[in-house]
Amino acid sequence: MIVARAWAGKRFAVLGLARSGAATVAALVTAGADVVAWDSDATRREGLDGVAIADLDTLDLAGFDALVVSPGVPLNTHPLAAKARAAGVPIVGDIELFAQARAELPPHKVVGITGTNGKSTTTALVRHICEAAGLPVLMGGNIGLPILGQKPLPVGGVYVLELSSYQIDLTSSLDCDVAMLLNITPDHLDRYDGFDAYAASKARLFAMQSDGNVAIVGTGDAASRQIADSLAGRATLIDADPALDQSRWPALQGPHNAQNAAAAITAARALGIDCDVIEQALASFTGLPHRMERVATLGGVTWYDDSKATNPESTAPALAAFPRVHWILGGRAKGDDLDACLPHLGHVARAYTIGEAGPRFAEVLRPHVPVAEVETLERAVKLAAQEAVRGDVVLLSPAAASFDQFRDYEHRGRAFREAVEALA
Ligand code: ADP
Repeated sequence: MIVARAWAGKRFAVLGLARSGAATVAALVTAGADVVAWDSDATRREGLDGVAIADLDTLDLAGFDALVVSPGVPLNTHPLAAKARAAGVPIVGDIELFAQARAELPPHKVVGITGTNGKSTTTALVRHICEAAGLPVLMGGNIGLPILGQKPLPVGGVYVLELSSYQIDLTSSLDCDVAMLLNITPDHLDRYDGFDAYAASKARLFAMQSDGNVAIVGTGDAASRQIADSLAGRATLIDADPALDQSRWPALQGPHNAQNAAAAITAARALGIDCDVIEQALASFTGLPHRMERVATLGGVTWYDDSKATNPESTAPALAAFPRVHWILGGRAKGDDLDACLPHLGHVARAYTIGEAGPRFAEVLRPHVPVAEVETLERAVKLAAQEAVRGDVVLLSPAAASFDQFRDYEHRGRAFREAVEALA
């Protein structure tokens, strides 16, 4: 457990007792803090030791040192956030508490990774490179286990934190040794007062850094370039680098992974890791499930699960990565178009549309490529197996959310794998 003596005797109100909330409460109590906690789900309120349980809506927040909330709480609309602001109580998350605890940890480095797309992949990759280099390492934030629940690393450890904009909003003093922004495209706009406010949230990761620390910024979009410019030469820029040879890195295919790899290499170099070790780690990286994950090769046809691609922007790089693709797409659409995918339709041998968005996506694609409206994932897999020839790729990259036919993107990815394995 990671704790700070500085919390002893202080008063914290904690809202949200799922995994990270429960770990936060345990860390605060262990440190000797006075904690009042609440979750609207009664089962989560049970079994917590040393904590007062109370509906925070009914409390006067004025005497508290901080309100700790989970990143799922919308700060822009939640009444408790307004109440805390009015009472002058800081609103923080577990990453801020981690930042406060750093002074008491053995000497270490923190790598903070944000961006609209590619955070998890790059976080897992940096962790893998650190491990290959023999450094003590762990992942926290959006990916991995709650940070405060983990065992502190020994001297020389590296904490690799995946940070969504919500987590950055709840953090005020995280001085990352290496801070990285991959890209910014419109997303989560329900939680922000427009795109500029969303971009400003990401930019704060750099504003919290001390001068000498490393900033890495992808330059593929205007908002990220603007942030890079504002750093007045302090940032290392990550361009699409055609010189990067990705052929030896099976889990890092496609232009988006060139960006992720280049950013991870820059971070690893900043941590003092040898080029040879980095190269070997890029080659041995196996990737994350459901992100362009190779599921099988059957009769010379390779099947990829990219179920995590829930919008056209994240599907586009997967289409770009292969010359001849049988593309399975559809689900619950986030918008009406597939504009980001259109430049890559030259790679599509045939599209197979499923789910709620199937008819609309079929209409958009039909002028450009052959389309089969098959409605279900199972039928898509069966038909693609008949149509694909040696050397082709069959790709599930839905460009839509999964909730119309599946519990979540992971469930959809597993269903795809099962359907493919049933072909063998
Ligand atoms: P995040 O954690 O930010 O959601 P992931 O690494 O889980 O990102 O990748 C999510 C999806 O985004 C994947 O389907 C992948 O194809 C796509 N993606 C990954 N990296 C990038 C990138 N650098 N730029 C654009 N899209 C990307």
